[in-house]
Amino acid sequence: MRIDRTRLEQSIEELGRIGETPRGGLTRLALSDEDKRGRDWMVARMGEAGLRVTIDQMGNIFGERPGAPGFPPVMMGSHVDSVPTGGKYDGQLGVLCGLEAIRSLNDHRIETRHPVMLVVFTNEEGARFQPAMIASGVMAGKIALEDAYNARDKDGVRLVDELERIGYLGAEPCVPRPFRAYLELHIEQGPRLEEEGLSVGVVEGIVAISWSRLTIHGVQDHAGPTPMRIRHDALVAAAEVVTAVRRIARELAGDLVTTVGSLTVAPNIVNAIPGRVTLSIDMRDPRDETLDRALPRLDRAVREACKREGVPYELEHYWRVPYTPFDREVVAAVERAVQASGARYRRVLSGAGHDAQYMAAIGPAGMVFVPSRGGRSHCEEEFTPLDDIEHGANTLLLAALDLAGRA
Ligand SMILES: [Zn+2]
Repeated sequence: MRIDRTRLEQSIEELGRIGETPRGGLTRLALSDEDKRGRDWMVARMGEAGLRVTIDQMGNIFGERPGAPGFPPVMMGSHVDSVPTGGKYDGQLGVLCGLEAIRSLNDHRIETRHPVMLVVFTNEEGARFQPAMIASGVMAGKIALEDAYNARDKDGVRLVDELERIGYLGAEPCVPRPFRAYLELHIEQGPRLEEEGLSVGVVEGIVAISWSRLTIHGVQDHAGPTPMRIRHDALVAAAEVVTAVRRIARELAGDLVTTVGSLTVAPNIVNAIPGRVTLSIDMRDPRDETLDRALPRLDRAVREACKREGVPYELEHYWRVPYTPFDREVVAAVERAVQASGARYRRVLSGAGHDAQYMAAIGPAGMVFVPSRGGRSHCEEEFTPLDDIEHGANTLLLAALDLAGRA
């Protein structure tokens, strides 16, 4: 059993034209007009493949290929929204390889015991509405529907109003539903598979993640008449924190990655000493214990930096996701599938969050990775060679069939 490479390539090209940027990337923000067109395209293809399409209260799209009565489905899914000037592979590949797997089952007239279902999740990226993975989060019962509906984009537009505007405010309850397995194919978004010349990663889990927010209160004053000895500069303390965050990763070595990705300076003008700085700290590691050791080091580094500059601060560790191991049986099925497909592979961990993370909280889940050229993603240069996509899609197909069982 193999997928149809030419048909898959055509699908990637067709869906990739919706929201395409002049430089070959993709801008398809969640619930925008482009997202609506991408969704409409998916729904049309699902209908052609004979799937029963339903939409839930969060605009998640489900397309079911029936199995024997009473069996929960094997789900394959990902997302069709993108970041601004992102790439055509993140998310898209997951839904298109899932679609191709179902089309291949149809070609071979294969009947399965468990239904096979394709799912397109709403607003995975979190580029327009925060938090990311909001719709799988609601489905997993981790985010209240009301809170998700009231999420606003930067122009103050509510998520629920946009769902309604584009015609994807469905009636089906967005609640945990039974499933046999959830499988998500996704680009790796890191360099490892490419560096090692491998086509597929069998994902064992998603790293633990911790997010902190630091606000430093300096004394805003004139950049000229204020002598250095009486200054309390919020940005100088922040600068020390930025380098300390890098140092924590070096000191704890291993797999820990630490990032200050957002920094807001007030008033952010040439001739004023910064009075207030807000910055973010993102730390990730496969082991929860490493984060348990890193956070007190962060506390100490912030305390010392702010003490030296004589500035008060608030440090908040506001979001923590433990290491998410994927289901053993699902991971084993993916590994059997990749072996049967003949692709070169290894087991890997995901350093990024995915809808599969929330799905793993309510049922057996697993992921298939394909390489990202240069490890790059969330940019127009995002690229995965078709040979690797084909291997990934075959792995997805065989794993889904294995888990669904022949009727
Ligand atoms: Zn993604």
